[in-house]
Amino acid sequence: MTGPTTGTFVGMPAFPTAARTALADTQLRHNLAHATGVIRGKRAAVVGEVDNWEELRLAGAAVKERALRSLDTHLVQLEESLTARGAVVHWARDAEEANRVVVDIARAHAVDEVVKVKSMVTQEIALNEALEASGIAAWETDLAELIVQLGGDLPSHILVPAIHRNRAEIREIFRRRMGEVGRPAPDDLTDEPAVLAGAAREHLREKFLRARMAVSGANFAVADTGTLVVVESEGNGRMCLTLPEVLVSIVGIEKVVPTWAELDPLLRLLPRSSTGERMNPYTSTWTGITPGDGPQEVHVVLLDNGRTRALADETGRQALRCIRCSACLNVCPVYERTGGHAYGSVYPGPIGAILNPLLRGTGDPQTDSLPYASSLCGACFEACPVRIDIPEVLVHLRSQVVDGHREDRIPKPEAVAFRGAAWAFGDASRLDRVERLSSVAGRILRRRGRTSLGRLPGPGSAWTDARDLPAPPTESFREWWQRTDGGERP
Ligand code: SF4
Repeated sequence: MTGPTTGTFVGMPAFPTAARTALADTQLRHNLAHATGVIRGKRAAVVGEVDNWEELRLAGAAVKERALRSLDTHLVQLEESLTARGAVVHWARDAEEANRVVVDIARAHAVDEVVKVKSMVTQEIALNEALEASGIAAWETDLAELIVQLGGDLPSHILVPAIHRNRAEIREIFRRRMGEVGRPAPDDLTDEPAVLAGAAREHLREKFLRARMAVSGANFAVADTGTLVVVESEGNGRMCLTLPEVLVSIVGIEKVVPTWAELDPLLRLLPRSSTGERMNPYTSTWTGITPGDGPQEVHVVLLDNGRTRALADETGRQALRCIRCSACLNVCPVYERTGGHAYGSVYPGPIGAILNPLLRGTGDPQTDSLPYASSLCGACFEACPVRIDIPEVLVHLRSQVVDGHREDRIPKPEAVAFRGAAWAFGDASRLDRVERLSSVAGRILRRRGRTSLGRLPGPGSAWTDARDLPAPPTESFREWWQRTDGGERP
């Protein structure tokens, strides 16, 4: 068994490096500011219509918390319910095991292409690549995911994976790529949203009608009835879930909801938080096999891939409550400026900044940079429909990152600085000497007309390249206290 693959894009640099590139892309920043601004406005309006929104949030959080606290029991019940309704349940510890299950099923049916819906979890485990390596083509059917796939691109948002693209770019991608993998875009394709959606519909219809096998994720898995639930806006999910003969659903084990009744607050919280709608246009539920209706072979892969590791973290486990609404992304000032690619993962934004280190563990430079990709302003917690205290988890993970470097042979400059501060603060006379030295430096600098230290050399430049470092004061607090007798004398 290998370690969890959590959709971290191979070769991505740490967040500060990737963010710097993104910040230099003015088109990207314009696309993001426009898109997140529109979604934020819609969400705020529909959330404002609900009198008891806070109660609903508490109810949603409680349902997910209950599910997580007895996850083992609920999972066993889910397996029994699914099996009783004719589904085949597979357990996968990691990406490799999950991918092998899907490839084996595809081979057993001699299919060379599959259609996909709600595929974030499949991106997490790099299923498309695993299928491709086995000669099986995987077609994304969600409009935004289709744009990402055709553009040879990476998703950058949980709900709108192509949020970084504008209409003109999408038209260009459709014109260039659709014909190479299926029905081409019409010659008179414009960048009107309805025309682009029409081209995608025609392109995808061909694939829906041909595919014998579909792969889906799920928003929720109800333990007592064995029901899987997918909510979506375009109807592509309904097509994938009903037309093919074989359906394989890959479900993260944290998606379990104990009872059908407990879906209620979650299905009310999700659409308002995600797309700013009162209700989802399509909510599909399926429970095993129904003879003569829909897929006649249903497989469910229950995937761990680091989730039990996250569950074992008492502070971090609340991240598993996430219902992937993306509200935290849309309100995050850091995400709005850098976009999703800078997080280097299929889970970007504030939730990605905590979920990736929780699933994979800290210790890798890219993952370790994520808990710092936040100003800790708290907007994500305010927006989260299941009350995940993301700032609390960020701080908790930062402490894990720091702890992980305590024994480093070459300590980080920050650690050296703090060791120096600890040495000075550890003894009153040492602190006095340091303060006197710093006042002398301050007086010299000010005499030369300088109010800032300017650019520090070496590792210190990482700080001063982005911030001003003021010159030290000409008098320390203790010197002032002695000189003025605690403020009694001028
Ligand atoms: S953390 Fe909360 S706000 Fe962010 S995607 Fe998950 S449920 Fe939505």
